[in-house]
Amino acid sequence: MANFRTHIAGAAIPSVAAAGTLFAADLIPAEIAVAAAFLGALGGILPDIDAERSLPTRIIFGALALAGACALALALRGQIALPLLGALVLGAFLLLRFGLRALTGWLCVHRGLVHTLPMAALVGVVVADLAAFVAPSDHAWLLGAFTSAGFIVHLVLDELFSVDLLGVRLKASFGTALKLGIRRQPIGTLVLYAALVGVVVLGPPIDRFARQITSQRTHRAIAGVLHLR
Ligand SMILES: [Zn+2]
Repeated sequence: MANFRTHIAGAAIPSVAAAGTLFAADLIPAEIAVAAAFLGALGGILPDIDAERSLPTRIIFGALALAGACALALALRGQIALPLLGALVLGAFLLLRFGLRALTGWLCVHRGLVHTLPMAALVGVVVADLAAFVAPSDHAWLLGAFTSAGFIVHLVLDELFSVDLLGVRLKASFGTALKLGIRRQPIGTLVLYAALVGVVVLGPPIDRFARQITSQRTHRAIAGVLHLR
């Protein structure tokens, strides 16, 4: 398996190059290019959050639980007695903090469901869904595509590094990174696909993005920047 530096470079270099090309071709504004390059690089390190019970992972879970507890406190504020509110908020915090950890522990056997192609698609679509709140649909999908592409670069690098340098012997981890699901986790795999369908349905319309990536004008603009004409 590839190490952290390989992953960040492996995803960041093509992301910056691709985003820079689209910007130079005048197809996207600067802020979308910067966000796309950043999200592509982030996608390249995202899969390995399942590997760590480390400080960053704990900070993320703690922050999510705190955000959830605060949201509950705001929602119930003034409606119930203060001591009850306090107990509920504390309960919600603990439930989220340890519940999330148990859930990810179940989903995230290292190179389990997180290291799969449907998960790569899921993170990209979630990014597109969120980006659609602040950007037009075609830009939102582009940002999602960069995130998924970085994620897939990670999976490919893991796969390449499980082959030894001469490519003669396969290490035991070969074939564990690029997969469509986990046979031993049928329910988890199903939940993952169901979540993917859900975020696609909730997402912004994709037709504009699809038209643009297939249009002659886009291809000519990119070819012009790359001096392919
Ligand atoms: Zn990995």
